[in-house]
Amino acid sequence: MIPVGRPVLGKEEEKAVIEVIRSGMLAQGTKVEQLEKDFAKKVGAKYAVATSNGTTALHLALIAAGIKEGDEVITTPFTFAATGNAIVYTGAKPVFADICEDDYNIDPRSIEKLVTSKTKAILPVHLYGQAARMTEIMKIARKRNLVVIEDACQSHMAQLGKKKVGTFGLSGAFSMYPTKNMTTGEGGMVTTNSKKMADTLKLLRNHGMEHRYHHDIIGYNFRMTDIGAAIGIEQLKKLAGFTSRRRDIASHYTKALKDIPGIVTPTELKGNKHVYHQYTIRVTADFGWTRDELMAELAKNNIGSAIFYPVPLYRQKAYKGIGRKGVCKVTEKVTKEVLSLPIHPALKDNEQKKIIKTIVDMYQG
Ligand SMILES: *Cc1c(COP(=O)(O)O)cnc(C)c1O
Repeated sequence: MIPVGRPVLGKEEEKAVIEVIRSGMLAQGTKVEQLEKDFAKKVGAKYAVATSNGTTALHLALIAAGIKEGDEVITTPFTFAATGNAIVYTGAKPVFADICEDDYNIDPRSIEKLVTSKTKAILPVHLYGQAARMTEIMKIARKRNLVVIEDACQSHMAQLGKKKVGTFGLSGAFSMYPTKNMTTGEGGMVTTNSKKMADTLKLLRNHGMEHRYHHDIIGYNFRMTDIGAAIGIEQLKKLAGFTSRRRDIASHYTKALKDIPGIVTPTELKGNKHVYHQYTIRVTADFGWTRDELMAELAKNNIGSAIFYPVPLYRQKAYKGIGRKGVCKVTEKVTKEVLSLPIHPALKDNEQKKIIKTIVDMYQG
């Protein structure tokens, strides 16, 4: 089976992990500190604070921004559940705005309609590896005095103009899960330009401990291990190479698929550098087969594919009675049409040829 995503790890990561194991210092330490420094520099943020995963990165970013019970946070329903869950953990209410049909990211026009006196923050997601419409979002935030926390879990080093995601709002949250664009095993990172924010994040992830066994606030154990960070340091060195391979694969797909009726290939918006965490097409009526039929045909040919995401968050059973519902027409439509094809740096050219041929053959019947 050609997997839809997989991590690429080599001798460098192996060596780094063995070094940490032999040192006997496995928990958060010098490797975490090094990864934070390297990551902040690459993103162009003043500070980066490592956490145990992308979900805890989002959770801590929201708490450190002062989001609490009774607040409303406007976000997208077309995302992984962790985005909404992190809001719910704080006691705040997620309010779901609709998305744009070109990039599948939150629609600034929809955000504006949902702002109330309770709204405290906007939580855009840079879905599939492409920056959301941050210029418009930051304008709304400034006008309405709202905090912006970016969910950059799928978009390491994606750019809008010269700026990288995770540097537009008060902070950005990244995931280092194995299938993300870089990994630490499990892991997360929060970026920010605010020293106060970075200090609070560091306290929160380590039981609110300023000095050993002196606790200033109630915190959590959301630390990253030095084993994970050692992997991450090596992965970060390779990230630019991974990204350019992802972009090459994406451009091959687009060239081969864009003229097939009923296949909508991804749009890279003007000024954006898409890092293709996913290569997601839409299958519409003109294709002659449904999205689910195409998925089954790919599976029959040992090709993995995935639906990110089949159900809008507000329709999830877990979200019954949670959040304030908007009417998300574009989200409703898109959830029925999207299909993500294999895209990871280790995908071979002949594997991609086979994937493309399977889709073309199916169209031609
Ligand atoms: C992966 C992901 C998360 C959560 O990251 P974890 O490291 O799995 O906790 C949050 N939001 C989005 C959009 C993601 O893709």
